[in-house]
Amino acid sequence: MNLKLPVYLDNNATTPMDPMVLEEMLPYFSDKFGNAASRTHSYGWEAEEAVDMARENIASLIGAHPQEIVFTSGATEAVNLAIKGLWENNREEKGHIITVITEHKAVLDTCKHIENLGGSVTYLPVESNGLIDLKALQQAITPDTFLIAVMYANNETGVVQPIKEISDIAKANSILFLTDATQAVGKIPVNVQADGIDLLTFSAHKLYGPKGVGALYVRKKNPAVMLTAQIDGGGHERNMRSGTLNVPGIVAFGKACEICAQKIASEGERLSALRDSFEKQLLELHHIDINAGNAPRLPHATNISFHDIDGEKMIFEAASDIAFSRSSACTSATLEPSYVLKAMGLSNELIHNTFRFSFGRFSTEQQVDHAVKVISKIVKEHRSERNHGHHKVV
Ligand SMILES: *Cc1c(COP(=O)(O)O)cnc(C)c1O
Repeated sequence: MNLKLPVYLDNNATTPMDPMVLEEMLPYFSDKFGNAASRTHSYGWEAEEAVDMARENIASLIGAHPQEIVFTSGATEAVNLAIKGLWENNREEKGHIITVITEHKAVLDTCKHIENLGGSVTYLPVESNGLIDLKALQQAITPDTFLIAVMYANNETGVVQPIKEISDIAKANSILFLTDATQAVGKIPVNVQADGIDLLTFSAHKLYGPKGVGALYVRKKNPAVMLTAQIDGGGHERNMRSGTLNVPGIVAFGKACEICAQKIASEGERLSALRDSFEKQLLELHHIDINAGNAPRLPHATNISFHDIDGEKMIFEAASDIAFSRSSACTSATLEPSYVLKAMGLSNELIHNTFRFSFGRFSTEQQVDHAVKVISKIVKEHRSERNHGHHKVV
């Protein structure tokens, strides 16, 4: 019953590899080292076969055809390929993109790049629960719009956008729909057919696979999506992403997807029960807000603001017990409040006291109870110090 500390509650940042995934990938670093593009000997065939099998498991998890999967180094590269590749392919015709201010930086910074190249981008706001307003989306569409990019689920809050409604609007206006589903795939059911998705990005290290491998789903039919490669040389991956395939990484990504498919329902239930119990216990502290608590959310994540505490101090005090994430990022010397929570209307002061806790496959009830105990103690201490007027500066 020994608890390994600190308890890891930051699965939205990255997940630990599943030991079964590691076991599956190891031989591809040693005995099975072949290049999947070598067509003249058994080393190559063996690697190609392993990649084919992985591609099937990965495609199957999102309801895609294996040939619609383009391997990349991760979701960031997949987003870059999707947005820049579409822009380059059709820039003579249309140049407007609609996205959302709460997207991951991978999307926001790539959109900025397109603006620098002469494109135009509309950044939709969100409501206080983190959801976009579908009427605002409808109104943002112009005859020049070629792409709507809305993430499936948010990495900070877990908010799940109304994907089917968004894709219906895109389709009715003959606009392509890209979703960054990095936080959703493997955690909640995602299906490119049922959801009407044209392009989708995801990443192995967010679903118990290794870092450095991900994929872009590119629809082949109704419509056939065309994009210009951003990395040339050799014509791998249907000419969309050249370079020798990362065979061990891809094998692991495939195994990770296979396991997710098996566990998605049971883990969703188990983790939402853990998350709900965590929230319920913390609510007993009073003066805390569960951000986007009334919106559709991922089952395993929560974003909580604690009133009347010192967020900076809490991080230090909790560090040996809990690994979690603060909704502010240190950029050079200043503490930048989260733009996602800002967009939802939280004050800078409160954002500094706001934290993300994300559970995962290896989270246990015992870990959650320990986290509740540690946080409760810290919050109570901070509040009692405030009430007694000793404002200790750390
Ligand atoms: C982690 C993450 C990314 C980046 O993925 P990488 O594979 O690390 O490049 C993109 N979007 C979202 C929503 C993420 O959570």
